[in-house]
Amino acid sequence: MDQIRIRNLKIFAYHGVYEQEKEQGQNFCVNAVLYTDTEKAGKSDDIADAVDYGAACLFIDNYMRENRFDLLEAVTRHVAEELLLAFPAIRKVELEVEKPDAPIPLRFDSVSVKTERGWHRVFIALGSNMGERLKFLERAVADLRADVCFRGIRVSDYIETAPYGGVEQDDFLNGVLEAETLYSPEGLLARLQEEERLAERKREIHWGPRTLDLDILFYDDLVLAKKELSIPHPDMKNRQFVLEPLSELAPFYVHPVYRKTVKEMLEELEETGRA
Ligand code: AMP
Repeated sequence: MDQIRIRNLKIFAYHGVYEQEKEQGQNFCVNAVLYTDTEKAGKSDDIADAVDYGAACLFIDNYMRENRFDLLEAVTRHVAEELLLAFPAIRKVELEVEKPDAPIPLRFDSVSVKTERGWHRVFIALGSNMGERLKFLERAVADLRADVCFRGIRVSDYIETAPYGGVEQDDFLNGVLEAETLYSPEGLLARLQEEERLAERKREIHWGPRTLDLDILFYDDLVLAKKELSIPHPDMKNRQFVLEPLSELAPFYVHPVYRKTVKEMLEELEETGRA
């Protein structure tokens, strides 16, 4: 993707662990790479179609002077996120904040922390089979819509499905949500688990009844296989109640491991007759 590069933006601010850094302040240097599509602005030659880099520099300067953090890690993370929220045409930011005069009693040029933040396309499976199922799903969707770390949320139709996994229980209401998010994969899992807790989900029986179940299906084309988090969701190819609503939203999305579209996976499942 195209880039706008900002080098050595000088900012006087008050971040640091030591009292003297917080009181007297010091110089900081910011390097940023803003990833954005410049196609439209390149054609129109109109600033309204571009990410205004002057405005971005002033934004960084203002945010860094108005806020105080102990750690460069916190400064970089917050500045990067706030930039993405303030300039929707920026898809990804690489941001480095340097302290040329950090309190270290040795000769050095500078210390810095660099981070990368961006919008990621995600698909999340939604399910409920206890109590007021529709309300649980709708509340979760409304909460995610209200969270600034999500944008562009689209939700499939909800479908009524028989329970999966052999436990005797009520039918499920299932759907899929698509969004762009600023959360990391682990951050997203934690955010969804918080939402499940809000719905007072009881986790007594594996594959048993639940007021709310939220699973990450895809996170860009990331492949992750950890005990606490597998992406793409490992069992999705066997779950019609996932593939059907997913196919409504993104039939041609390609599974990064099987290299098949969602539509192809759904058709294969329907042929083999598994639910
Ligand atoms: P479940 O009871 O099916 O919702 O499973 C919940 C557990 O699965 C959570 O504790 C997660 O750590 C783990 N898990 C692994 N991969 C995923 C995923 N892609 N989405 C959600 N939870 C996952």
